[in-house]
Amino acid sequence: MSSQGIVFNIQRFSIHDGPGIRTTVFLKGCNNRCVWCHNPESHEKKPELQYFPERCIGCGQCFSICANSVHAMVNGARVLKRDLCTNCGKCAEACYSGALEMAGRFMSADQVMEEVIKDKVYYDNSNGGVTFSGGEPLLQKDFLKELLFASKSQSIHTAVQTAGNYEWSILESLLHLIDFIMYDLKIYDYDKHVKYTGVGNTRILQNLKLLSETDKVFAVRTPVIADINDSPEEISKIAETIKGFPGLLYYELIPYHNLGASKYRHLGKEYIYNFSAPANEKLRLLANAASIHVKNVRC
Ligand code: SF4
Ligand code: SF4
Repeated sequence: MSSQGIVFNIQRFSIHDGPGIRTTVFLKGCNNRCVWCHNPESHEKKPELQYFPERCIGCGQCFSICANSVHAMVNGARVLKRDLCTNCGKCAEACYSGALEMAGRFMSADQVMEEVIKDKVYYDNSNGGVTFSGGEPLLQKDFLKELLFASKSQSIHTAVQTAGNYEWSILESLLHLIDFIMYDLKIYDYDKHVKYTGVGNTRILQNLKLLSETDKVFAVRTPVIADINDSPEEISKIAETIKGFPGLLYYELIPYHNLGASKYRHLGKEYIYNFSAPANEKLRLLANAASIHVKNVRC
C-alpha cells in the first residue's frame, strides 16, 4: 500500500510550471511565510476549513453537525469560532451549496498517480511531465519520494518547485529522481528576507550553491514585489549570486499578482499587504539588470 500525504490541489494542463504540458501537484505545508503569498491555503500541513459566504443558502446544516459549536450567530451576524475548529471536515461534507470546503486532503501516492497518469499522452507529445509544488513539497519528503519514484517508473519527466529552506541532505537524497528544479531566491538581503518571508536566507543560499555543484539542470525564480525586491540593485545582487552556475537553465522574474487576496478571507486570515503588480517596463528594467550577470533571463 502506498503512503499518504496531504495535497491541496492537482492542476492539470499547467504550462507555467516547467517544460511542456504538465500536471502540477501542490503539497500542503510550508515553513516560510512570504507576505505576498497567493497560496495561503498551502501554509499549514493539515486540512483547513474555508468559508465562502456568497454561496451560503442558510440551510443550517453546519450548525447542527458541528460538535464544537464553531458555527454561531453573534448579535445577528454569522460567525465562525475558528479557534474551536478541529478541521474534522464534517460541516464541509454536509454543506450542500459548497459554502464550506476543506483546503487540503489526505491522499495516497497511488491516488495522486491515478490523476497524474491521465495526461501521459500530453506529456509525451509536449515534452512535459509532472511538477511537485507547494507549499514546500520537500517538507513531505517521504511522500514526495514515492511520487517521484512512481513518476519515473512510468517514464514521466519530473520537476520540483522549492524554496530551499531545509537540510541539504533532504534535497540531495531525491536528486536522482528529479529531472528539473525550479528554485526560489526571493530576496538577497538577510534582514529583509527575515522581515518579509519569516525566515533567514543563509541555508537557502547554501543549498542553492550545493545544487549548483551537482549535475542537475535548474532554474532560479524571483517573485517581483513592489518596494521589497523590485529594484535593479536587488535583482542584480541575486543574478550575481547565480552567475556562472553550470546547471542554470534560466533565471525567471515572476510578476506579483493579488489573486490570492480573497483566499485569506475564506480561511479567516488577514491579508495585511496588498502590493501593486509590476509594470512591464519595470520588469524589463529588472531583466536588463539581471542579464548583465546571467544569460537567459525570463519575465
Ligand atoms: S451548511 Fe453550508 S449552506 Fe448551509 S448554512 Fe452552513 S455554510 Fe450555509
Ligand atoms: S471542520 Fe469540524 S470542527 Fe470545524 S467547523 Fe466543521 S464540523 Fe466543526
